[in-house]
Amino acid sequence: MPNTGTEKENSCAHCHKPLFGRTDKRFCNDTCRNTFNRQKTENQKLQASANLPEIFRIIKRNYEILKENCPQVLDHDENMLVNAKEFLKTGFSPKFFTSVHITSYGEIWYCCFELGFRIGEDYAFIRHFPEQAIV
Ligand SMILES: [Zn+2]
Repeated sequence: MPNTGTEKENSCAHCHKPLFGRTDKRFCNDTCRNTFNRQKTENQKLQASANLPEIFRIIKRNYEILKENCPQVLDHDENMLVNAKEFLKTGFSPKFFTSVHITSYGEIWYCCFELGFRIGEDYAFIRHFPEQAIV
């Protein structure tokens, strides 16, 4: 892997040929720089897609946890209240969700399909947003 710090500082980060001249030079030329940067971007894309199955699994688990904590369909604007600490102990991962719903008064709800959640200091709130599960 280029640029790991193990190679000599005065060689091209792409083709590893020795570099002469300015000590802050990292590449022989524009071609090496462009190729290096393109490959770096492609590697980052590959790394991101490698995590997709795990992220899908987390979202599915989040949805199941929301459903377990809010089994019946609530009326519009009605919340289910759950102890926030207990809720997070279930393994719920607030980082992953499928959509965001912002109410007319600016409240942000993160949704896993039709189930929205907000996590406060004491309580986690769960609410139904059927329209969030419609494409
Ligand atoms: Zn080079």
